[in-house]
Amino acid sequence: MKKIGIFSLQGSVTEHLVSMKKAVESTGLNASVDAVASRKQLAESDALVFPGGESTTIGRLIRMYGLDGVIKNFVAENKPVMGTCAGMVLLASKVEDNRFILGCMDLEVERNAFGRQRESFEKDLSIKGFKGNYPAVFIRAPAIKSSWGRCEVLAKVDGLGVMAKQDNIIVLSFHPELVSDTRVQCFFLDLLD
Ligand code: GLN
Repeated sequence: MKKIGIFSLQGSVTEHLVSMKKAVESTGLNASVDAVASRKQLAESDALVFPGGESTTIGRLIRMYGLDGVIKNFVAENKPVMGTCAGMVLLASKVEDNRFILGCMDLEVERNAFGRQRESFEKDLSIKGFKGNYPAVFIRAPAIKSSWGRCEVLAKVDGLGVMAKQDNIIVLSFHPELVSDTRVQCFFLDLLD
């Protein structure tokens, strides 16, 4: 049985647990989905989701609990990782200030690129490889300012990247845990061998 961990220091953990369980059921995959936070739980997971929330807070907690090493090892082992919104910020290599980020992907993000909370929006998004548009929900969303190396941008809004993939990592500016469409979760589950 595969173990999918939802990183649970802060953010939309419950929503990811519910939507990922639904996606696992729909694919018939033999996998468990649990909230994970300790070094042991992280190391024992086969795939990991970094939820949206507040990247400043999550980054501080990662450092406070000394979890950055285990997360970087996880990525180095090429295990599937999905980062949504704040999760995208944390996995990036560059952000506008010198805040702590994990530096796991060849991309630069801009936080809150589409404005503040009240400028949150929904958009029917065209995603490379997806049949038909995807109902994407953006809440204080970051955008991809630039990407290089092996990072491929899969969707854009107003010319700005909002979804990307690099090896077994996918990142999204939007919130797949808030919609009933589970195609993004299924795309992620496909990365598990
Ligand atoms: N703007 C937030 C941050 O930088 C992310 C918002 C979200 O995850 N919904 O952490």
